[in-house]
Amino acid sequence: MPRRINRVATVSVHTSPLDQPGTGDAGGMNVYIVEVARRLAARGVEVDIFTRATSRALPPVTELAPGVLVRNVVAGPFEELEKTALPRHMCGFTSAVLRAEADHDPGHYDLVHTHYWLSAQAGQAAKLRWGVPLVHSMHTMAKVKNAALADGDAPEPEERVLGEEEAVTASDQLVANTAEEARELIDLYGADPARVATVSPGADLSLFQPETALPSTAAGTARQRLGLPPDAYVLLFVGRIQPLKAPDVLLRAAARMVADDPALRERLVVAVVGGPSGSARCRPDGLEALAAQLGIGDVVRSEPPVPQGELADWYRAADVTVVPSHSESFGLVAVESQACGTPVVAASVGGLRTAVRDGESGILVRGHDPADYAAVLRRLHAEPAHRARLARHAVRHARGFGWDATVDRLLEVYTGALSHLTPAEATA
Ligand code: UDP
Repeated sequence: MPRRINRVATVSVHTSPLDQPGTGDAGGMNVYIVEVARRLAARGVEVDIFTRATSRALPPVTELAPGVLVRNVVAGPFEELEKTALPRHMCGFTSAVLRAEADHDPGHYDLVHTHYWLSAQAGQAAKLRWGVPLVHSMHTMAKVKNAALADGDAPEPEERVLGEEEAVTASDQLVANTAEEARELIDLYGADPARVATVSPGADLSLFQPETALPSTAAGTARQRLGLPPDAYVLLFVGRIQPLKAPDVLLRAAARMVADDPALRERLVVAVVGGPSGSARCRPDGLEALAAQLGIGDVVRSEPPVPQGELADWYRAADVTVVPSHSESFGLVAVESQACGTPVVAASVGGLRTAVRDGESGILVRGHDPADYAAVLRRLHAEPAHRARLARHAVRHARGFGWDATVDRLLEVYTGALSHLTPAEATA
């Protein structure tokens, strides 16, 4: 009989589930951790999320939802630190995580699930001290990122590669977002195939719905709510503004479209929703400067990050969401957009090849040449019937990615990891 899981320790050192996704280090991983934790708690599995405190004002514990606690661990200064500065604070962070269990009866946590390589360092200590299985999700991997760097982007350091290799060796189960990521774990990191499970992330399908599915009480249309003209051709970029996400490719493609068809300038809107992240090279003000330099400053509308409830309106208001990333472990934005009935034009990389069904729910573009993106976006502009067909398929495709299915599968992985414990570990 499988052992019941009562409580999971989740570790996310470098970014807090309390942060607004879409800026800095907060993105899809934060959304993943929050959505999974809420749903585990709703099924009776309590979740404690350990993260590094980045403000003196934060209490030691914050209740995120019933059954979900965020433990704001003091380790290092009370401020945001570059990820490169975090390894030297891991010792303090790990000790604080271990002390948290010491406040409870032995066996408080049944399992530890770590996210991103730094967290796995704390997870390895917790696994040994608590005698529980370690489940690890990479989310992104240095070897994959380094093979697809944006122009001028600094490669991930060797320290991270080594940390990821250690995480692979120490984990009882690795969770990959896609079959492609599972293969990379096996081929690039030497993971044991029996210990790699593919668990697809999801989207909040109750929030991300097409305009037509909204109750008739909704005030106006998404375009009206956002002040966008009904006849505009709206291209949307959502996410952290960083070279890896390549928002500049969309701007350059838009500039080409306007140069080829000057009349389009009146109707074209390029909306960019998100905040700065990482390198200073690709900040929102940098994008505004690029738009001005390309002569499309009047076409581009930059918006700061917004909560998902508001983001849904941006997806609904857009004709196409563009995801030209150089590398993407999954690409939640692509699924959320499709769930709202907006097809996606994405780079044919990583998880986007799973998140978008090429030719059916969107279009995948090989490489990052703005001319190729302009050609696809021009065609979709000229063929509204094609766009509408993609939109219908997009909604259907996105329905296959709900967070409840993610949690069903994760619980199977957790149960499997527990059943692999040696009898001595299981009674520790
Ligand atoms: N996001 C958000 N508000 C914003 C921009 C983004 O809540 O203004 C969320 C978005 O809904 C998505 C996540 O941030 O769930 C980004 O995830 P994705 O997998 O696309 O990219 P990542 O940040 O993981 O690289």
